[in-house]
Amino acid sequence: MTIASINPATNQTIQEFAPLTKDDVITAISVADTAYQDWRRKSFADRKRCLLRFAELLRADADEYARTITLDMGKRISESQYEIEYCAKIAEFYAHGAERFLADQPMEVEGVDAYLHYEPLGVVMGVMPWNFPFYQVVRFATPNIMAGNTVLVKHASNVPQCAKTIEELFSRCGLLRGVYTNLFIPSEFVERIVSDARVQGISLTGSEPAGAAVAALAGKNLKRSVLELGGNDPFIVLEDADLDEVIPQAVKGRMVNAGQSCVASKRFIVVESVADRFLTGFKEQLSELKMGDPMDEATTLAPLSSEEAAVKLQKQVQASIDAGATVLLGGDRPDRDGAYFNPTLLTDVTPDMPTFDQELFGPVATVYVVKDEAAAIELANQSSYGLGGSVFTADVQRGRRVAEQIETGMVFVNQPTRSQAELPFGGIKNSGYGRELSHLGILEFVNKKLIHLG
Ligand code: NDP
Repeated sequence: MTIASINPATNQTIQEFAPLTKDDVITAISVADTAYQDWRRKSFADRKRCLLRFAELLRADADEYARTITLDMGKRISESQYEIEYCAKIAEFYAHGAERFLADQPMEVEGVDAYLHYEPLGVVMGVMPWNFPFYQVVRFATPNIMAGNTVLVKHASNVPQCAKTIEELFSRCGLLRGVYTNLFIPSEFVERIVSDARVQGISLTGSEPAGAAVAALAGKNLKRSVLELGGNDPFIVLEDADLDEVIPQAVKGRMVNAGQSCVASKRFIVVESVADRFLTGFKEQLSELKMGDPMDEATTLAPLSSEEAAVKLQKQVQASIDAGATVLLGGDRPDRDGAYFNPTLLTDVTPDMPTFDQELFGPVATVYVVKDEAAAIELANQSSYGLGGSVFTADVQRGRRVAEQIETGMVFVNQPTRSQAELPFGGIKNSGYGRELSHLGILEFVNKKLIHLG
């Protein structure tokens, strides 16, 4: 296997990293387990001090870390800077909130004196993707570290510079050795780790096949698991929505991270009375995106994360076209070096096309025109995914009614789905299970112990 940092803007290899051996992995589990015996006994104040220092370190060299992200996976530099700042906020959120989230909870049962007492579980494994290479790791690691668990992380093979940098940051912020460990390993090694009795659970963010493989391993070994998988989020535009506000949000919702976000808006479902105006404006604004070097602040469309990702997307788009979809914009790759893909707008995609229910991870928007609100809800729910979604309307109460009928883990009214440290994040159906962020995120890998006093 190759663990290599390849700049997707040029397809040039920057650095390769040697994978660990199976023996190295077993040693890492032992070190993480030993660290757990000490870490679980540390006070919240001690753990908090480390995570606040982690946030400080992130901010102190934010530009350098942002460059590392952009070099590894091609994100626009301003998005990388935003990601670093957001990671600092997540670390602070759990540093300040953990003691409150994990305080004893009295059970309100008549005649019974009992309470819930939260305890850490032990070593927890994270398998993380490349699309937000700092954020995904920090979202998993910081609540677990505050809860008293220790973590092993297998990061995606194409973001090793980020993986290494995050481990260095955690070691510099005062954590005991073994509280946070990066593992440069192929995905086949994950089975060995999950089957180890000292490892208590696994959290994966990534594709459906990877999620299914990890869930099977977790099930076989009776371990807890959290899965945050793909999405095919609906973006519903009702006839009373203000299109001048909606269209820029549609561009933002679809083009975040060059379209490579699980909660990017992917299916634009527009009521027919406003469809022509929406399509005209959306196409115009998509065609104004400026493709270029992600290190250049003026670039508004970056490359995809890798050449393979661009090739895969091209195949998916071509399959739609071959099956009868109409291309209103783009549909192919530009004639330039790097993993670039033209901003693309497709219509006439129908449920019988293979790509109807696939996640298109790139700058490709699909617009569906429907008769009315009821048809919009029906189409929104015609998906094997159920991560996020949004509905645009001038009437917030109407937005709320529609939101309650969408079968996903998150619905936003008048804005695309987004992540915020204080709010739960996660999906249903093939988008996975469990919740990250907010107070719920810290409760995934803890023992919710009942103590009964009579
Ligand atoms: P993967 O799901 O393959 O990669 C995510 C992580 O899972 C990586 O660390 C990967 O390791 C690991 N992994 C892959 N297969 C296994 C396995 N069988 N057991 C254990 N770990 C595994 O994503 P890709 O990079 O291949 O992207 C493919 C598609 O997945 C995208 O086009 C998109 O649709 C979706 N995706 C969704 C994401 C989200 O945020 N929900 C994030 C990334 C992708 P390694 O890199 O070594 O293969």
